[in-house]
Amino acid sequence: MSAHPARSKAIESIAAQPRLTGTFDFRNEKLDAIYGQNVFSLDKMEKRLPKNVFKSVRNVIENGGMLDNDVADIVASSMKDWALERGATHYAHVFYPLTGLTAEKHDTFFEPSGSGTLAQFAGKALIQAEPDASSFPNGGLRATFEARGYTAWDVTSPAYIFDTENGSTLCIPTAFVSWTGDALDKKTPLLRSMAALNRSAQRLMKLFGNSNTGYVAATAGPEQEYFLIDSRLYHLRPDLYTCGRSLFGAKPAKGQEFEDQYFGTIPARVLACMMESELECFKLGIPIKTRHNEVAPAQFEVAPIYETANVAHDHQMLTMTVLKSVAAKHGFVCVMAEKPFAGVNGSGKHVNWSLGSPKVGNLLEPGSNPHDNSQFIAFTTAVIRAVDIHQGLLRATVASAGNDHRLGANEAPPAIISIYLGDMLADVFEQLRKSGSAKSSKKGGVMQLGVDSLPVLPKDAGDRNRTSPFAFTGNKFEFRAVGSSFSIAGPLVALNTIVADSIEFMVERIEAQMKGKKGNFNAALESVVKEILQKHSRIIFNGNGYSEAWHKEAAKRGLLNLRTTPDALPQIAAPKTVEVFERQGVLSKRELVSREEIYTHSYVLSVNTESKLVSQIGRTTILPAALSYARQLAETAAAIKSAGGKSSSKMLSQVVSLTNDLESALDALDKLRAYEAADTHAAARHAVTKVLPAMLVVREAADALEGLVDDALWPLPSYQELLFLR
Ligand code: ADP
Ligand code: MG
Repeated sequence: MSAHPARSKAIESIAAQPRLTGTFDFRNEKLDAIYGQNVFSLDKMEKRLPKNVFKSVRNVIENGGMLDNDVADIVASSMKDWALERGATHYAHVFYPLTGLTAEKHDTFFEPSGSGTLAQFAGKALIQAEPDASSFPNGGLRATFEARGYTAWDVTSPAYIFDTENGSTLCIPTAFVSWTGDALDKKTPLLRSMAALNRSAQRLMKLFGNSNTGYVAATAGPEQEYFLIDSRLYHLRPDLYTCGRSLFGAKPAKGQEFEDQYFGTIPARVLACMMESELECFKLGIPIKTRHNEVAPAQFEVAPIYETANVAHDHQMLTMTVLKSVAAKHGFVCVMAEKPFAGVNGSGKHVNWSLGSPKVGNLLEPGSNPHDNSQFIAFTTAVIRAVDIHQGLLRATVASAGNDHRLGANEAPPAIISIYLGDMLADVFEQLRKSGSAKSSKKGGVMQLGVDSLPVLPKDAGDRNRTSPFAFTGNKFEFRAVGSSFSIAGPLVALNTIVADSIEFMVERIEAQMKGKKGNFNAALESVVKEILQKHSRIIFNGNGYSEAWHKEAAKRGLLNLRTTPDALPQIAAPKTVEVFERQGVLSKRELVSREEIYTHSYVLSVNTESKLVSQIGRTTILPAALSYARQLAETAAAIKSAGGKSSSKMLSQVVSLTNDLESALDALDKLRAYEAADTHAAARHAVTKVLPAMLVVREAADALEGLVDDALWPLPSYQELLFLR
């Protein structure tokens, strides 16, 4: 088989590539010294700052709030000295606009100020900067005459130095706000939502008799799935490098059906790349813990130890940056699209979420005594209520053009949000739901809060029910519907806010009941838990989320099944969402409406770009290959005929017929693309109901041709090559 010259060249080069051994050896690295070496951490601040200054910084980190200007100046100058000692020449405010990406604006420390001396890096520059914000999406939040926004240091997330071969930059994580105070980014609502969660968790803990909890923080541990594709092949696929996913490609002879990839031995070239990205993450203080092969060929996963949600978010964004840049050094491209290849598993980002504090521990961890169990039950009940009421919003936080190809595709959770508790815990909640009315349950007894201990729950083996979008896994919930390319901020903001509101609801109900019941807290708690479960336990489902039966059952239970992004996004600004987000002070109606608008617009843009590319590749790459082949076949047939032979024209007529199909499918797609929608929502509807299906029709003909046309004429690397060559 001789492949098309462009592919041949890439394949030969891959085959001849010497093994890259990497530039370091973990055995010789002193991890203690490396870990966090590029981070301006609390330890470093403690050593460098005057005692009282350090104390106020630590106080802001632990309890939220703002640094005052004098303190900020001192911290800034100490941070600058540290960065210069480490060779940094620039500093950057890093922020997280609504594109879901990381944005940064770099400034040099040095100013050509005549004498060439170092410019003053005042506290003001550290605390606040003013990037030209007019080109970031704002969904109508800023009028054009007042396009400015400013970034402000998020003191709870440490500054760090980002090294490249050509220089080092001091990076300062910031929140991005307009001058009118509207949040233009993902960090601002994340911080607000954490404050809300802390507020209501402390109120509930007070009812349990604990008024010394410290700041109760949301915690997050995001697992990142990704593909590593050889860069030489990747760059022969305009669909991959433009859209991040392949828009064409016949099924490979070997897919993932051997199930020989999951947790298999990591290929040497990949392992070298993984180790180097881990080393880079360690320098940045990112606590990477786990690496392994994933289910699809060429698919891998990396997971950190959990941190407070805000730091975990920043570290997750940084991990994606590191993975991409280290992959490039190793001749790979790190592909994080949710569904880069049809027919093999896509990639998600499981977001493990809980809440707690150093003083009270993990509040979603079942305890060993009745008191701790009651706490666990109370907080878990709040989660159940929140997820049931706001299932639509949670679905919306994982909605994107890319994730639509993954959710519900029998490899990822369905679009229906439900909670998996595991059999034993589900039984406990069933007893609590019934207690009082039903005298017996499966286990015979009726559990009483504050009196009985929970049965010992088996520690979940992690992936026991992969079909659930939201699973309890022993001491945390795992939100599995999140897409691999997503910022985890959206899902975290939603979870923190709805759970904060739900906890507050419980606190108020319990307080009201206690007035009636002469202050008996346990009785009030039990009755409120029961009341909530009776209303909301429909969201609990332990079975197979992929099954047809569940779709029917979920509909019967009245659960939402928002199949596509245009179905889901309106939930972001739904009245119920607005009410809770405003009550918790996380996002205003304006801010929510702007987000819905931006995400809808971005959906339309994605589908538009993809459809243009389908057209372009279809017409300028695939059609010519098919036509060349048809001509070859026709010429061959004519030659045979003129030599007096009899040629079967079966192949020719197949190719011609598919070529015709391809052309008419392309015509139909182009016609659909010319449609002018009245507004963004109509455009999104058009994209999902008309354009996407039309793209598939094109693909069907093209993929069939790939299976027929002479390999020497086919310029696009095949799935086989993309997934198996390294
Ligand atoms: P499993 O539950 O699959 O045995 P782990 O306990 O190791 O696995 O956790 C899987 C992921 O969940 C890791 O990224 C981990 O950091 C995260 N995680 C563990 N505990 C918490 C927590 N309290 N809050 C948030 N994430 C957590
Ligand atoms: Mg996984």
